[in-house]
Amino acid sequence: MSEKKITVLGAGLVGSLISIFLAKRGFKVKLYEKRVDMRNQRIDGGRSINLALSHRGLTALQKVGLWSQVKEICLPMKGRIMHDQDCNITYQPYGQEGQHINSISRSKLNMLLMNAAETSGVELHFEEQCVDANLDLGTCFFEGVTGRIKVESDFILGADGAFSGVREAMRITDRFNFSQYYLPHGYKELTIPATPSGDFALDPEGLHIWPREQYMLIALPNLDRSFTCTLFLPFEGKISFEHLTEPNEVQSFFKSSFPDAVPLMPHLLQDFSQNPTASLVTIRCNPWMVGKAGLIGDASHAIVPFYGQGMNAGFEDCRLLDDKLSKHRNQLSTAFKEFQANRIIDANAIADLAFQNFVEMRDLVADREFLLRKEIEMKLQESYPEVWIPLYSRVTFSDQAYSLALKIGQIQRSIMDKVMEIPGIEHNWRHMDFTDVVTDLKAQVDSI
Ligand SMILES: Cc1cc2nc3c(=O)[nH]c(=O)nc-3n(C[C@H](O)[C@H](O)[C@H](O)COP(=O)(O)OP(=O)(O)OC[C@H]3O[C@@H](n4cnc5c(N)ncnc54)[C@H](O)[C@@H]3O)c2cc1C
Repeated sequence: MSEKKITVLGAGLVGSLISIFLAKRGFKVKLYEKRVDMRNQRIDGGRSINLALSHRGLTALQKVGLWSQVKEICLPMKGRIMHDQDCNITYQPYGQEGQHINSISRSKLNMLLMNAAETSGVELHFEEQCVDANLDLGTCFFEGVTGRIKVESDFILGADGAFSGVREAMRITDRFNFSQYYLPHGYKELTIPATPSGDFALDPEGLHIWPREQYMLIALPNLDRSFTCTLFLPFEGKISFEHLTEPNEVQSFFKSSFPDAVPLMPHLLQDFSQNPTASLVTIRCNPWMVGKAGLIGDASHAIVPFYGQGMNAGFEDCRLLDDKLSKHRNQLSTAFKEFQANRIIDANAIADLAFQNFVEMRDLVADREFLLRKEIEMKLQESYPEVWIPLYSRVTFSDQAYSLALKIGQIQRSIMDKVMEIPGIEHNWRHMDFTDVVTDLKAQVDSI
C-alpha cells in the first residue's frame, strides 16, 4: 500500500523540514504544533536562542533548495576562541581554510522553514497538542483551539522533540528499547549585547569558550551584533546552580571565573535570575517505527549539545529518509524500515561523541598538550588531506556516517597517543616525517 496522507507532529526545526521533503514528493502533509504560531507571537520556551549549523544540516537544506535563503541569516564562525582565567585568548581553527560552522537564530530558521513548508503545500495547524495516538491505525487525537479532534492518516511522523508523545505511545509496546540520561549539568542563557556604538563586543568570527574544567561559558554571535552566551554548570555541588542564588554570589562567581566577560554583560544579574535553568538529556531508543508511526529528530535521538549536532543530525535524518523514499518509490514504511536500520547506530555514535566533546570543550581546550595535538593533526591534514581528516572535521564538515567517524577517530586517537610520546615532539614536530603514521592509519582504516 502506498501511504499518501501523513500527519507530522511538531513544527520545530525537524518537523518543518521533513514536511517540506514529503510535500515535494507529493504526499499530503498535515503538520500539527502544540505551541502558538511563532511567526505571529514571540516564544522562547527556554530553548537555545542560536545554534551552530554545519555541513550535514546545510546539505539537507540544499536538497530542498533552501540553503541560499538560510545562508543569508548565518554568521560564519571559523574557529574556537578560548578565554583563560587570566584573560589570555587563544584561537583554534575548526578546519582548513574556507571551512566554518554557522551561527543561526533558532526562531528565524524555524520561521523560514514553516513558510517554506506552507509554500510547498503543507497544511499547518497551531495550538493543537497531540494527546493520544493509535499507532496501528495511524490515528492521532488533538486537544487545542478546536476542542478534541481525531485525525486519520496513512503514517504518523513524530518530530515532537525529546519528550515525544509518539515515542511515549511506542514505549508501552512490546520489545521497545528506551533509555534516558540526564547530565548532572544544566544550562542557562545570558546575553552580551552590542556595544553602545552598535558593534560586536567580541570577535564575531568565532565561537567563544571560557573552559573551566567542571563548567564552561560559551558565546555565539547574532545578526543584531549581540552574543548569546550559555553557562553550563552542575546543578548540585560546590560550584553549582544550587549555590548561585544571591546576586552577590553570582557576581563574584562570574568575576573570578570569567573576568573578561563580566564587563560585557551589563544585564548579567537580571538575565541570571530571570532566564530558566534547563536540563540536558540524552535519549536513545530502538526501533524508531511501530505500526504506522515513525520517529525523527530529537524524538528518536536527543543528544547533549556539545558537538553542535542535534539539529544537524535531525536535518540529516530528513535527507537520508528522503533518499530511501526515492529508492522505494515513496513506500514510506518500507523506506522508514531501511532508514532506521542504518541510522540508529549512527544516532548512538553521535550521542557518544557529544558526551566526549563536553570533556574536550570544558577541559581539554585549555590544556597545552591537547592544543599541541591539534596543531600536529592540522599539519597531518595539510600534508595528507585525503587520509588524515581529524575527527571534528569528519563529524562537522563531512557526510561520513557518525559511527564510522567515531571508529576512525578512535584509531586516530591511539596513533596520536603514540606520536605524543615521541621524545622532544613539542619542539620537533614541524620538521618530522609522518609518513609511517599516515600509512598506519590507512592500513587500520582499510581493515574496518
Ligand atoms: C542548549 C542547546 C544548544 C543546542 N545547540 C545546537 C547546535 O549548536 N547545533 C545543533 O545542530 N543542535 C543544537 N541543539 C540541538 C537542537 O536544539 C535539537 O536537536 C533540535 O531542536 C531538534 O529539533 P526537533 O524538531 O527534533 O525537536 P524540537 O526542536 O524540540 O521541536 C519539537 C516540536 O514539537 C512540538 N511538540 C512537542 N510535543 C507535541 C505534541 N504532543 N503535539 C504537537 N506538537 C508537539 C514542540 O512544541 C516543538 O515545536 C542544541 C540544544 C540545546 C538544548
